Amino acid sequence: MIRSGEGLADGGTTEAEVAIVGAGAIGVALAVRLSGRIGRIVLIEAGGTRFKPAHNLSFFKAEEIDDPRHAPTELYRRRMLGGTTSVWGGRCIPFDPEDFAPARDRPGWPITFAEFYGHVPDALEFLDAGAPDFSATTALPNLPLPLEWPNSDLALHRIERYSKPTDVWRKWGKNLARSRDVTVIQGAACTAVLTNAEGTCAAGLELKTFSNRRHKVVAATVVLACGGLETPRLLLASRGSRACGLGNERDLVGRFYMTHLVSSADNVGALRFAAADTARAFDFSKTLDGVYGRRTILLSPEARRRERLPNIVFRPTRPPMDDASQRDPVLSMLFLVRSLLIPPEYARSMVAKLGSVPTSQAWREHGRIVLSGIPGLMRFGADWLMRRVLATRKLPSIFLHRKDGRYPLEFNAEHMPNEDSRVLLGNDTDPFGMPRLVVQWRFRDTELDAICRAYRVLASALARSGLGEVQLEPDLPYSVQRALVPQGGHHIGTVRMGADASVGVIDTHGQVWGTHGLFVAGTAILPTSSFANPTLTAVALAFRLAEHLIRRQTSAGQALTAASAPSRSGGAVLLHLSCNELEPKRGSVNLLRNSRFCMFPQIAGPTSNCSAVSRRNPPSSTKAMTRILNSPGYGPCIGQPSGESMR
Ligand SMILES: Cc1cc2nc3c(=O)[nH]c(=O)nc-3n(C[C@H](O)[C@H](O)[C@H](O)COP(=O)(O)OP(=O)(O)OC[C@H]3O[C@@H](n4cnc5c(N)ncnc54)[C@H](O)[C@@H]3O)c2cc1C
Repeated sequence: MIRSGEGLADGGTTEAEVAIVGAGAIGVALAVRLSGRIGRIVLIEAGGTRFKPAHNLSFFKAEEIDDPRHAPTELYRRRMLGGTTSVWGGRCIPFDPEDFAPARDRPGWPITFAEFYGHVPDALEFLDAGAPDFSATTALPNLPLPLEWPNSDLALHRIERYSKPTDVWRKWGKNLARSRDVTVIQGAACTAVLTNAEGTCAAGLELKTFSNRRHKVVAATVVLACGGLETPRLLLASRGSRACGLGNERDLVGRFYMTHLVSSADNVGALRFAAADTARAFDFSKTLDGVYGRRTILLSPEARRRERLPNIVFRPTRPPMDDASQRDPVLSMLFLVRSLLIPPEYARSMVAKLGSVPTSQAWREHGRIVLSGIPGLMRFGADWLMRRVLATRKLPSIFLHRKDGRYPLEFNAEHMPNEDSRVLLGNDTDPFGMPRLVVQWRFRDTELDAICRAYRVLASALARSGLGEVQLEPDLPYSVQRALVPQGGHHIGTVRMGADASVGVIDTHGQVWGTHGLFVAGTAILPTSSFANPTLTAVALAFRLAEHLIRRQTSAGQALTAASAPSRSGGAVLLHLSCNELEPKRGSVNLLRNSRFCMFPQIAGPTSNCSAVSRRNPPSSTKAMTRILNSPGYGPCIGQPSGESMR
């Protein structure tokens, strides 16, 4: 069911077992996964179905950002159902095992890589990014191999996968609207998390609407999924029981703010392939399972360990579109249409000179280049129309093949956790009375040095391999410093996971240390940033949290079932079976929704292994229950259930 905040009773309450704040990728993933398995769920979203730039500005604008390289906080986020997936690029890469391990200049994660990776297949499916195959050899077998023999410092076999890109609300909104146990409240912002007087137990949420209607959600389990900037803001602003905000006794909320350290369109150095055709190996291509993928240029883990380098990816790319000297009609056309057709976040990252206003001479020059290349532009336009505008699965970006085989090289590097890099509350407030953020984004000089070292390792490895030559600017540190900007849409680490309350805000399951029942999900919880775009990893961890919540609820429920089970049947039957509950249209959803069975997953994989506990009239044997589960009313169970009787 979907309700408008303005339709809620002023001063009234809504009760639920679980309340989730934020209907972006993470909040929707949680609601979809929990639906039918945990009781009543309320999903609260401040925005509505349409993007309203003025609302973004008035609610998300920061009071102060002390580094001009950091984008305004109202950019790169969307206050609406589906959140930022309404504009995201869809690049999906899981974090690496090395991102979880401690390194010299940062701690590791308190959970293992395996605990996370088990949920990646489900996250890929949720985001429409295909199978968990990130090897170019098997996923893109038709692309030419860039290297005849392996080079120990280079890793060229990995690919990044792309979502359609899927707007999670468009994909899942109808299901959530139809769901009997999910209530989506749109157009109501959560202004505080409510707890008991001591702040030790979550109790619910305070909501406000534009017309100043106030409403309470009462729930013992609360999950904050409002994004990497809004989640710390909400925790810090929830001062009802603790003056420092929730989870902030050790002043950790908002600290360790990471983005990624990336090059602006004014890239660093260039890669000239020895054979111009080699560039094809780095173009976007459809994988065997039909999604777009692209080969990446990475340094091997051994080279990174030896040279003490961050996790970093390099990509051959296109020159900035404001550079008329390229005399490229496509770039010049992009320059001319950017303010009309390209969302501001993308237009911003495609120009070398941030903030400069193009002169009339620049307009004339680009206009002339466009006119000189009309036939080529028509071919490009037709291809773009077919593969991007009209296609459901869209070509992720433009890779312009260059006759001379020379491509500017962009980098996308891990940003190290740094306690001085932080967001905190300012004095100004937004229209709902919530304090605005102050952003103090920081990186260390050692990180600049490490990026320079990584370029040099890449240059010598590529030269040795014969693949091509990296042409570096004479003053590399200056070029890196000039090009470096924070990745606009990646807000990471502000509510990080830690093995204990002295190093993190949340525990290994996502529960805020010291506040039972208050959980956090999303990019905010990642203790390291990797080079990888964070959404796939955050969705995988959201599924992990969903399983935890279901298990937690089920243990309580089981105790209840055992106590109240009819003696005639002798108790409940616990079954282990496989069923894929992610795909909304599959029959197994019936099974999950049916009140006779309480389902909970055990290990995630391409399909999830689930357990089912009968709640009412439990059948006397596993065989009997298997028969029921496979009957038409319940939809298919994949694989043969095996079971044990719980007496
Ligand atoms: C241009 C662009 C390109 C990107 N490309 C990629 C990419 O290729 N790959 C990738 O991995 N990532 C990419 N990202 C990042 C990606 O979009 C985000 O990581 C992801 O969408 C975050 O999802 P989320 O659910 O955590 O947060 P959000 O999408 O921000 O959703 C949070 C939701 O919570 C709501 N909300 C916030 N506060 C409150 C409140 N107090 N009360 C009620 N509701 C609230 C918001 O309105 C919003 O709808 C990109 C981002 C941008 C801007």
